[in-house]
Amino acid sequence: MHEISLIRSTFRTLEEEFSKEDFQKITDIYLKIGQLSNVEPILLQNAFDAVISAEFAEQPMKLHIELLPTLIKCPICEHTTEVINYKFICENCERPCSQIVQGNELLINKIETAP
Ligand SMILES: [Zn+2]
Repeated sequence: MHEISLIRSTFRTLEEEFSKEDFQKITDIYLKIGQLSNVEPILLQNAFDAVISAEFAEQPMKLHIELLPTLIKCPICEHTTEVINYKFICENCERPCSQIVQGNELLINKIETAP
């Protein structure tokens, strides 16, 4: 499952970046997910809960997901448009546009730790 492996790799990244003591202080994980990354927030939350109860049952952590809309930037008029229903058209000059400036993100945005 896509979401499970995503959560596992998120934890792997955190375990690499934090010392064991610091990792154990993590209380909240904030992810930014672009609309085009094909991640379903509800499935991601379920995967997170499953990994927590299987591997980090002693350490309750919370997942926060920020879903980023898809944005395109018109190469002609430089206007930025939010893509709705996969309509890749500049809303300003109505030309087709495929220059994506946001929407493919899949990143750890912020970590909160207990004092
Ligand atoms: Zn335009």
